[in-house]
Amino acid sequence: MKISESFRSHFIREVLIPLILVLLVTFLAASFTVWWATAKSNENAAAEQQQIIQTTLTQSLNEMIKQHRSLALWQPLGRRLTRAPQDTIWLNQNVGSWLSDMFGHQLVYILDAKNQPIYRWENGKNVPLARFSHLQQPVTTLMGKLKVPFSSTDHHRETIDYALIDNRPVALAAGTIAGENGLSAGFTLISVKYLDDQYLSALSERSLLRGLRYADGHPAGAGANYLLKNSEGNSLGYISWQPYAPGTEMLHVIGPVALAVVLIISLICGVMIRRLWLSSLTLSQSLLQLSASEAQAQHLAFHDVLTGLPNRALVEDRLNQALGRRMHNEEQVALLLLDLDRFKLVNDTYGHHAGDDLIISVGHRLTELVKDTDTVGRLGGDEFVVIVQGIRSPREVQQLCESIIESLARPFTLLGCETWIGVSIGVATAPDDASDRTEMMRKADIALYEAKSHGRGQYRVFEGVMDESVKTRQQVAADLRIALQNKRELAVYYQPLMDISGQQVVGLEALMRWHHPVHGLISPNEFIPLAEEMGLIIQIGEWVLREACRVSLAWPDLSIAVNVSPLQFRAAGFVERIKAIVKQEKTLPTRIELEITEGVLIEDEKGAQEIMSKLRQAGFKIALDDFGTGYSSLNYLSHFSVDKIKIDRSFTQSLGVTENSVAIIESVVRLGQAMGLTVTAEGVETDSQMAALAEAGCNQLQGFLFSQAVPEARIADLLSHRKAG
Ligand code: C2E
Ligand code: CA
Ligand code: CA
Repeated sequence: MKISESFRSHFIREVLIPLILVLLVTFLAASFTVWWATAKSNENAAAEQQQIIQTTLTQSLNEMIKQHRSLALWQPLGRRLTRAPQDTIWLNQNVGSWLSDMFGHQLVYILDAKNQPIYRWENGKNVPLARFSHLQQPVTTLMGKLKVPFSSTDHHRETIDYALIDNRPVALAAGTIAGENGLSAGFTLISVKYLDDQYLSALSERSLLRGLRYADGHPAGAGANYLLKNSEGNSLGYISWQPYAPGTEMLHVIGPVALAVVLIISLICGVMIRRLWLSSLTLSQSLLQLSASEAQAQHLAFHDVLTGLPNRALVEDRLNQALGRRMHNEEQVALLLLDLDRFKLVNDTYGHHAGDDLIISVGHRLTELVKDTDTVGRLGGDEFVVIVQGIRSPREVQQLCESIIESLARPFTLLGCETWIGVSIGVATAPDDASDRTEMMRKADIALYEAKSHGRGQYRVFEGVMDESVKTRQQVAADLRIALQNKRELAVYYQPLMDISGQQVVGLEALMRWHHPVHGLISPNEFIPLAEEMGLIIQIGEWVLREACRVSLAWPDLSIAVNVSPLQFRAAGFVERIKAIVKQEKTLPTRIELEITEGVLIEDEKGAQEIMSKLRQAGFKIALDDFGTGYSSLNYLSHFSVDKIKIDRSFTQSLGVTENSVAIIESVVRLGQAMGLTVTAEGVETDSQMAALAEAGCNQLQGFLFSQAVPEARIADLLSHRKAG
């Protein structure tokens, strides 16, 4: 699958980034919450532990002072000290051992009223009294507090505090020793417990804080330190422990789980994104395909399949648009209707594929000639259309028409052969000729008809009179139908065919005349195509043949030529019909020469051949009329059995005008004679033409030099009146 860059960036922008952002925000929020809960619960726990250690220390002091008090208030001690202060053995038993063994007090001193030590117990044994100075400072501080009475009811005073001895933290208790009647015996009992491992492990047990230890300088680790102070507020160092951090513990438990959850969620999201990617990719691709096929369908609906040019529907739409736009400015819009000349022949000669190629090439040539703003379209068959916009002068349209005609007159290469066609163009302009599309089409069509009927390869710009002529044409068509019924207006004239000397009439060609009551004499060039269109040609043709047969009986020495329309020639039963007519008119087919045109042969070669051989078998002679105007080359002739070729008058008239005209005629003559054909030259108007044609070797001549076509009544004149030299 080819992934379009825009789809990728769209997906990343619209789906991937938002999703990743949501995931990130969720994870961050969750992480923050966990972190915050951890920190908060650790913080709470730390505060609690501070509280616990503080309480534990206080409790421990309270206990210690109670132990201390239990001895200080023991009256036998006061008594003994008063009576025998030097009884060390007794004191060892009842003071030193008692406090150290029972309660773990490590240093025990008894001071006299002058605060001089009189008994000293250190670390499980009585030691000499020397060296008390290291205790002096804390004891003195403590002794100051002893002034505060312990209880208002008795005279016992005591105090306890933490202190530093030899830089070691201790709990130091001091209290007056009770004498008789609860009065002070004048002695002070001092006991000390070091905050050593034993002490701290006891505290640990009580507080459930693990790993309690003393650090004098800086606290070890964060959050699990207690600043030990004496009651004065002086720092004595830190007590540290292994912190209990429930948050961290919780984190240790839920951390991996949370991480796993995050991973799983990310994985699921990844899979989902991938699926989303694939499905939207398919979707977008099928949408793309859909719009592509839609665009294609759209294109097909409005374009000609063969050439890719706009079709009739689009042309009409464009024309409407152009006309709509024109409303707002002074410029003109022109519609050119094009009809290829001789396309049918090419199509029939070279086949439909070649015809298609030709149409495509024509489309290309046309497109090259117009501006981008103009439209070239194909209406079907060999009909093209050009819409030209923004015209400021009629000259522009004329120039375009000229260049189109010139361009399409250049040869086309089909199946490796060069072929010539031509084009006829009808032009209508808006707003001069029409303001709406249908009117414009109609008028361009009329102009095209005009162009075609004036000898093709031309353009005609619509004029008001053409509209008239169309109306006239329709009228004339109706008139022709009537004329054919009563035959009064129709006549057959006869033009002589001369021998090469121009002295002797050897035949007559029957040519139709129509004396229209209003329009006067109408040329067969005009009404024969009309009759063909209206399906009257067969009737007319047969009527002319009947006339010709009749005339042939009057002039037994002359052959009578009759023109046969291709339509008539191809009509079913043609051979039988004319044989019947000839028979009915009681003449012989050998007297009749049928003039056919090359078009007949090309349309359906085999069929034509068949008909021709039947005609010849019946005795008719066949002349190939207007030879040279079509496409058939000379060797084409060999395929058909004809008796005569009539070189078209355009050749005759080119004699002395076009350079190689003599050569052409000579080669036609040579070939014709080689095939045993009679060669007739038409349209001989001058003596020099006659001379040249005689020189070239023609057999017969026909033309105004000898006579125009004359009514039947004047045929006799033709024969008696020889052309005077
Ligand atoms: P076409 O068969 O080539 O007939 C010869 C045409 O050339 C005639 O025109 C004739 O008057 C004209 N012509 C003869 N000599 C000269 C000359 O020296 N100079 C010039 N410029 N023209 C000359 P027309 O009679 O107007 O006939 C025109 C065409 O009408 C004929 O051409 C023929 O194709 C057709 N046509 C005439 N009568 C009939 C008919 O009865 N049936 C059919 N199917 N077609 C006919
Ligand atoms: Ca003729
Ligand atoms: Ca002719």
